[in-house]
Amino acid sequence: MSFKNLQLIEPVLQALSKEGYTHPTPVQEQSIPAILQKRDLLGCAQTGTGKTAAFVIPILQLMHQQPPVQDPRQSIRALILTPTRELAIQIGESIEAYGRFLPFRHRVIFGGVPQYSQVQAIRRGVDIIVATPGRLLDLMQQRHISLNHIQYFVLDEADRMLDMGFVHDVKRIIAKLPAKRQTLFFSATMPGEIKQLADMLLTDPVKVEVTPASPTVEIIDQSVYFVERHNKQSLLIHLLQNKTIETVLVFTQMKHAADKLARSLNKAGIHAEAIHGNKTQNARQKALDNFKSRRTRVLVATDIAARGIDIDELTHVLNYELPNVPETYVHRIGRTGRAGASGTAISFCDWSEKIFLSDIQKMIKKTIPTVKGHPFDNPSLHSGPVVADQPAVSGSFRNKGRSAGGGKRYGKTFMQRRA
Ligand code: AMP
Repeated sequence: MSFKNLQLIEPVLQALSKEGYTHPTPVQEQSIPAILQKRDLLGCAQTGTGKTAAFVIPILQLMHQQPPVQDPRQSIRALILTPTRELAIQIGESIEAYGRFLPFRHRVIFGGVPQYSQVQAIRRGVDIIVATPGRLLDLMQQRHISLNHIQYFVLDEADRMLDMGFVHDVKRIIAKLPAKRQTLFFSATMPGEIKQLADMLLTDPVKVEVTPASPTVEIIDQSVYFVERHNKQSLLIHLLQNKTIETVLVFTQMKHAADKLARSLNKAGIHAEAIHGNKTQNARQKALDNFKSRRTRVLVATDIAARGIDIDELTHVLNYELPNVPETYVHRIGRTGRAGASGTAISFCDWSEKIFLSDIQKMIKKTIPTVKGHPFDNPSLHSGPVVADQPAVSGSFRNKGRSAGGGKRYGKTFMQRRA
C-alpha cells in the first residue's frame, strides 16, 4: 500500500515525499481512512509506530476541505493534548513537516516558560494547538484560549497522562470541549481508568491496535559484553574511545545512576548529559537538543524519560544495565536502526543480569552474540550459571524496584513489523 491509496490531497503527498516516506506504517494505514471518514478513533499504539502522522495528516486534510476561518477568536479548530513538553515539540515539528504546503498555523503550548509569546500567537490566530494540560488550563482560565470552536481533539499518550497525574486536568479540559467534535484517543496501554476515559470520550470509535511487540529488530546489530558491575564504567569509557560511536543513548535503570554515570563520563573527558524524570522540563529539553544537534555525544537516560524521544539517525543504543522486562529491551534497541538506517545495540551484562539476558533471548528467540576478549572480560561470566532468584517469566511484578517503563506494552515500531 502506498500513501496514494489513502486518498490524500496533493499538498500532503508532496510533504510526505519531501520527508522521504514512501509507505504508510500500519497504524497510519488503518487510522487515516477512518479519520478521513470523520470517525472517532481508539488507537493502541506507542511512539515509534508513526502514530503522530496517523492523526496529524488526516486532521490537516479535513481542515483543508473546510472553508477558512477569518476571525482569530474562532480559529482554533484542532487541539492535541500530550503529556510532556518534548512530545508537544515533536508533534509541533510533525505538523510543520506534514503541513508545509498547507496554510495552517499551529502553536505549541507548555509550561515552564513565560506565557507571553504563546498568548501573542493565539491572539494573532492559530488553527491547531498542541498543548500540555497544565499550561493549557492556565491560559483557558485567563481567557486567552477558548475551546468553543474545536472540531478535532486528540488525546495523545493517555496512559502516560495517568502516570504523570494529569488525568484530573485532562478531564477539566475535556469538559470545555464542544460536544460535537471528532475525538482521536491514543494510548500505549489500556488500564481500567484509561478505558473508562476512552468510553466517556469516544462515540462508536474505530479501534486500531498495533499488535504486541515483535521479537526483535532484525536489522540491528546486537552484542553483549559480559562485565563485572564495578568494571562497567571503565568498559564504557574504553568503548567510547572508538570515534565511530558518534552518538549513543545509554540506558540505566535508576535516575541516580544516570546522573552519576554522566558525571563520571564528563570527568573522563567524554561529553555526556543525563535525562530523567527528576530534571526540570527545561533541563531535559536542553539535554535533548544538545544530543540531537550532536553537541553532546552521550545521553544517559532512564526508560520513562526516553519514552517518546524521537531521535533520527541514532546509531548506537547501549544498555548499561539490562532491563528486567524483555519487552523493554526491544523498545530500547528499537530507537536505533530507524527508517532503514543501520543500528548497533550493545548490552552490558553482569552476574545479576544474566537472568534478564536469558529472558530477553527467550523472547527474541535468538542468542545475542558475545564480545569476547575485551579488556574487562571475565570468561567465567560467559558460562557461569544463571541465578534464577526470580521466576524466568516476564511480567509487571518483575519490574518492582526498578525504574518504570518496562511493563507489557502494545505496539511495535513499524520497522520491527517490517523486519
Ligand atoms: P511516531 O510514532 O509518530 O513518533 O513516529 C516515529 C518516527 O517514524 C518518526 O521519526 C517519524 O518521522 C517516522 N515516520 C512516521 N511515519 C513514517 C513513514 N510512513 N515512513 C517512514 N518514517 C515514518
